[in-house]
Amino acid sequence: MSESKAKSISTPRKRGICFVLSAPSGAGKSTIANALRATQPNLFPSISVTTRDPRPGEEHGVHYHFISQEEFEKQAENDELLEWATVFGRGYGTPRAPVEKLLSEGKDLIFDIDWQGHQQIRKALPHDVVGIFILPPSLNELKNRLQLRGSDHIDEINNRMNKAMDEISHWNEFDYVIINHQLNKAIEEIESILASERLKTDRQLFLDPFIQNFQHER
Ligand code: 5GP
Repeated sequence: MSESKAKSISTPRKRGICFVLSAPSGAGKSTIANALRATQPNLFPSISVTTRDPRPGEEHGVHYHFISQEEFEKQAENDELLEWATVFGRGYGTPRAPVEKLLSEGKDLIFDIDWQGHQQIRKALPHDVVGIFILPPSLNELKNRLQLRGSDHIDEINNRMNKAMDEISHWNEFDYVIINHQLNKAIEEIESILASERLKTDRQLFLDPFIQNFQHER
């Protein structure tokens, strides 16, 4: 085999995948997303913009880009957001440029966004999105988890409980559904989804020159 052929085989180009995680507040989505980031080196978080205030421990540019309502509206109008929605009365959105850059570099992204964002991003990038919905083990467990969170006020908890029911009603719009009975098992299940989706034939069409070489060398 010539050197140039060997080179083209060892450096195939692939496009990245958008793994969207959605769940009602309290189902364990952020914990799962953090665990996946730690074990999956080729998984980059999409950092959303939001008009809500930072919570204790949250950093600008790490957890969110915290921006004003005015800036949010400007970005939405200029089509700088791949999707955006109003959640709990605050603006949330996905900056378009970093997603397009990472996808074209073959890097996979993980999105922690709601069902509205999932619907929009699916329309915007129909071949790139894998939607995963995480359910809590039961409604009682969800209530307990929301009450155990120290950072939110009781009105906020009730608000989130109503929003949770709304979020859950969209569960069957996703490609996969995980019930978070036990954190480690839920993470393992999502890791197996990631592995299978990366191996799908449609996502490996970049291997075409590699296969052509097999045929030439027979
Ligand atoms: P939190 O304020 O608790 O961080 O997030 C509230 C909700 O907004 C969560 O369901 C979260 O997934 C969702 N969210 C966060 N970022 C985005 C985004 O960029 N777009 C959309 N549509 N939802 C988002």
